[in-house]
Amino acid sequence: MSLLNKVAIVTGSSSGIGAAIAIKFSEEGAKVTIVGRNKEKLNNVAKKLGDHLVLTADVTKEEDAQRIINETVKKFGQLDILVNNAGIATIAKFEDDNLMTVFDDIMKLNIRSVVYLSHIARPHLVKTKGNIVNVSGVAGIKPFANGFTSLAVSKAALDHFTRSVALELAPNGIRVNAVSPGPVYSDIFENMGVNKEDESGFYESMRQSTALKRISDPEEVAHLVTFLASDKAKAITGTISVCDNGLLLS
Ligand code: NDP
Repeated sequence: MSLLNKVAIVTGSSSGIGAAIAIKFSEEGAKVTIVGRNKEKLNNVAKKLGDHLVLTADVTKEEDAQRIINETVKKFGQLDILVNNAGIATIAKFEDDNLMTVFDDIMKLNIRSVVYLSHIARPHLVKTKGNIVNVSGVAGIKPFANGFTSLAVSKAALDHFTRSVALELAPNGIRVNAVSPGPVYSDIFENMGVNKEDESGFYESMRQSTALKRISDPEEVAHLVTFLASDKAKAITGTISVCDNGLLLS
């Protein structure tokens, strides 16, 4: 088990990629704090975990972020791994009246909350020589038209935050990496207003946008995050690992 007795926080673990990461971490022996705003969904994920802590919290609120760190260390005595996964992908075209509201909301969650959580996790990660894995997205590398500018800017910022803070924390023995998924089946598209049954429309166009003509399951991203969070990746820091079904090639 590659994460035996490690203590991990996974934000946005009430569904999708975050839930898959929490479950995989648990299978690999980690004690996991799962975090989201929806308690019912969190409790469903918790049924699949070994030693765990469920925290209902909004990571954009600094007092909630502080509670996530404090409660985790109080229950498990240490912190080894922080996975900053919570994110949204709200669409707003550049001419839309709500552009700045969407931009602010996306930046607050996709980058500001990550900076703050990482900042307050740092003293605990120094003690364990732990690591951070950020869940970014290929929109941070390749811009997409049709209202994805705010998302793209937030993920590009997250990628550069990853590299920058990796350099800053390396003297403390803390590694910082990111994964950059392409399309993954999760609630994110429904939350963007896509009809889940729309197999021949949105999902087919997503599939066709990749070289491998497929969409990932969340578990595929979870495997990569688990590797990066484990000691097997002890030489790896400041990297953005792309798992996009070849989207960036096409
Ligand atoms: P989901 O919508 O399934 O998961 C998003 C998670 O974030 C949920 O658990 C949600 O929980 C949580 N969340 C949202 N807002 C907050 C908040 N303010 N505080 C705490 N938790 C919050 O989507 P994915 O699993 O797809 O997304 C996970 C990450 O993967 C995101 O960062 C996304 O940008 C990235 N990604 C996803 C891709 C995809 O194709 N699916 C592609 C590229 C990147 P709750 O509602 O309970 O708060």
